[in-house]
Amino acid sequence: ATPMSIMTATGRGAQAGVLIKDAEALERFAAVDTLIVDKTGTLTEGRPRLTDVVPADGFDDNRLLSLAASLERGSEHPLAEAIVEGARERDAAMQEASGFEAVTGKGVSGTVGGATVALGNAAMMADLGVAIDALAPNADAMRSEGKTAMFVAVDGRPAGFVAVADPVKATTAEAIRALHGKGLRVIMATGDNERTARAVAASLGIDEVRADMLPDGKQRLIEELRAAGAKVAMAGDGVNDAPALAAADVGIAMGTGADVAVESAGITLVKGDLNGIVRARALSQAAIRNIK
Ligand code: ADP
Ligand code: MG
Repeated sequence: ATPMSIMTATGRGAQAGVLIKDAEALERFAAVDTLIVDKTGTLTEGRPRLTDVVPADGFDDNRLLSLAASLERGSEHPLAEAIVEGARERDAAMQEASGFEAVTGKGVSGTVGGATVALGNAAMMADLGVAIDALAPNADAMRSEGKTAMFVAVDGRPAGFVAVADPVKATTAEAIRALHGKGLRVIMATGDNERTARAVAASLGIDEVRADMLPDGKQRLIEELRAAGAKVAMAGDGVNDAPALAAADVGIAMGTGADVAVESAGITLVKGDLNGIVRARALSQAAIRNIK
C-alpha cells in the first residue's frame, strides 16, 4: 500500500471508531483468512445477569446465593459482579469472606461464616473432588439456552449452582454474517463450557467452537493455526486475551475492554461493535489494491 492509501484508510477508520495502529497492521489485516473471537465481552455484552439459583436437595436458595455472593465480592470477574448484583436484588445478605483465592479460568474459594465455600466450573469441582452429577442435568438444560452455570460447594459437598445470562450484542449476528460472506473462517474461543459456547455459537451461525479454554489456550490455538499456514486475527476484550492478541498476525481489541488488551492490539474497535471488523477488512483491502 502507498503512504497515501494508508492515510486514507486509517483516517476513514478513525472516523468510524476503528483505530488502526500502523501500516503494518493494515497490510496484515488485508491478508487475514481466519478470525478467532472471544465469546464473553466480544460477541456478548459482557454484562452477565443472574437468572437462576438452584439449590441441591436440602439446601436453601437464599443461603446458597448469600454464600456465593459473599465470596464473589472479592473477585473482579464479570461473573462475580453478576452474582453480587443478583444477591442485592434478591435481598440475600452478604457477609465477610476470608482466605479468598481465585483460580484463573476455574473459579474462587474462601471461608464465609465458618463454612468453606468454593464456586466455579466443573473443572473447579473436579479439582476439589466434589461430585456434581445430581446437578448436571439441570445445569446442562440451562447451558443449552446459552447460560453459564457455576457450581457451589460448601464444606466439600455440592450445595447447588447459580446461572447467569450474557446477551449477545445487537450488532454481532450481522457482523458474523458479513465476515463469513467475505470468506473468513470464524472460530469462537472461550473459557466457558462447551454446551454454553455451542448454544451461543449456533445462534450466530458460527460452527467452529473451542470451549473450556484456559487463558494460555487461546494463544496456543493461534500459534497452531499460524504454524499450519493460516493468517490469523484475534478479537478479544479481556486481560486474559492480551497474550492471544499479541500472538496473532493482527490483534483486535474492544475499546470497551481492558487497557492491556488495547495495548496488545493492532486494531481497536472504539465502540466494541464487531461491524468495525467488517469495516477494517474493507479499508485494508482497498488500501492494498492501491499499491498498483
Ligand atoms: P472467558 O474466556 O469466557 O472470559 P474465563 O477464562 O474468565 O472465561 O473463565 C472461565 C470459566 O471459569 C467461567 O466460565 C466460569 O465458569 C469460571 N470462573 C472464572 N472465574 C470465576 C469467578 N470469579 N466466579 C465463578 N466462576 C468463575
Ligand atoms: Mg472475554
